[in-house]
Amino acid sequence: MGVGKGDVVMNLLRNCPEFAFSFLGAARLGAATTTANPFYTPHEIHRQAEAAGAKVIITEACAVDKVREFASGKGVPVVTVDGAFDGCVEFREVLEAEELHPDADIHPDDVVALPYSSGTTGLPKGVMLTHRSLITSVAQQVDGENPNLYFSRDDVVLCVLPLFHIYSLNSVLLAGLRAGAAMVIMRKFDLSALVELVRKHSITIAPFVPPIVVEIAKSPKVTADDLASIRMVMSGAAPMGKDLQDSFMAKIPNAVLGQGYGMTEAGPVLAMCLAFAKEPLKVKSGSCGTVVRNAELKIIDPDSGASLQRNNSGEICVRGEQIMKGYLNDPEATKNTIDADGWLHTGDIGFVDDDDEIFIVDRLKEIIKYKGFQVPPAELEALLITHPEIKDAAVVSMKDELAGEVPVAFIVRTEGSEISEDVIKQFVAKEVVFYKRINRVFFADSIPKNPSGKILRKDLRARLAAGTTAA
Ligand code: AMP
Repeated sequence: MGVGKGDVVMNLLRNCPEFAFSFLGAARLGAATTTANPFYTPHEIHRQAEAAGAKVIITEACAVDKVREFASGKGVPVVTVDGAFDGCVEFREVLEAEELHPDADIHPDDVVALPYSSGTTGLPKGVMLTHRSLITSVAQQVDGENPNLYFSRDDVVLCVLPLFHIYSLNSVLLAGLRAGAAMVIMRKFDLSALVELVRKHSITIAPFVPPIVVEIAKSPKVTADDLASIRMVMSGAAPMGKDLQDSFMAKIPNAVLGQGYGMTEAGPVLAMCLAFAKEPLKVKSGSCGTVVRNAELKIIDPDSGASLQRNNSGEICVRGEQIMKGYLNDPEATKNTIDADGWLHTGDIGFVDDDDEIFIVDRLKEIIKYKGFQVPPAELEALLITHPEIKDAAVVSMKDELAGEVPVAFIVRTEGSEISEDVIKQFVAKEVVFYKRINRVFFADSIPKNPSGKILRKDLRARLAAGTTAA
């Protein structure tokens, strides 16, 4: 299809084998893949396709109608993996076409993956992960001296987390392939189907996120016997408290539970439970492990930038060949995230204890995580203030038992407006994927801001915690 070095292919797919083929195929041609959630609204998809400069869009039946018109307007071919659609090319036709292209002349610093993340602030940005980043990251996770602690050729890895998120693309698919393990790919999460697959294929490694862990821990239908083949459960993308970790352990008697800590911009894995631990079971509950090999990690005072001693909380910074090259076409945001000495500032608050274990305790940055999915407040605020009856808006996170966090909005209405919570929620719901929907609306006279106009989110979160909000 004319894809070559420097081009960008958009994968708008749920989990399927074709996801892997197209990602690896594009990589071999020297192209990068930008991944997006097929349940995004047309607006969200078009914005990313345009910003990333997608040359081809690979998608499936559930999303094809959201891209066809846009793509034909831009002259971008659309490939579908599950059937024939007017004006689209079928995936199998691409496979059948001509002979193999010769290997592209690929440099380690060429971009291979372009996931979108809002990072520590603002709107989603293209995160430029290079061949060097991903190869380093995978080696940091998989190539251990002790094969019992890492993925091996004998493992059967469950791929249920969405491949459009870098956690699954890197730490599940690429790490699994690197180890020569078998992959069981699930299109979407469903607890009983998952249990069936674990039994049927004797799955040994199960990468999860906390909401899946919660469902398993709470379901009376899932027994320890069901999950007996699993030797390792990984959990990442969002915090998992000690209580949840402990109750879940009862369901996986034969497994090691390893929390990992990642961030798209960091390649993505900063720390994992098995990274250095000789006895993985001895990693403390609530810890997200130790820094991965061949990387440096430090904790700094967010105000002064000074390095802190062990057991003192501050901003977590990481340095190594695995971190992103920068944000696509955004040198300013890149400079604000990776400093002159090459340290990536995560916007997470944590500490390192006497055993080198890392504990995340808070988040400095504004991002909200709904079941591990990113909800960028700036994106919702920009949308909210386009409504003629909304004068100002601020979006912050509120704790939620099931989702971890949900977005809630503080709204200043224009003079005389009586706009209701429901109308505002519906207005947003039309434009964004389900997990970015506003959960509650609180009306306010003004939005607290600092002298330079930055929203004081901490003040709003404190109002929520104190219950001094008017709905
Ligand atoms: P993303 O770029 O979507 O992977 O989001 C990265 C952010 O998710 C991190 O900077 C953390 O705020 C959060 N996160 C990831 N893993 C963990 C974890 N194990 N515990 C707590 N927060 C986490």
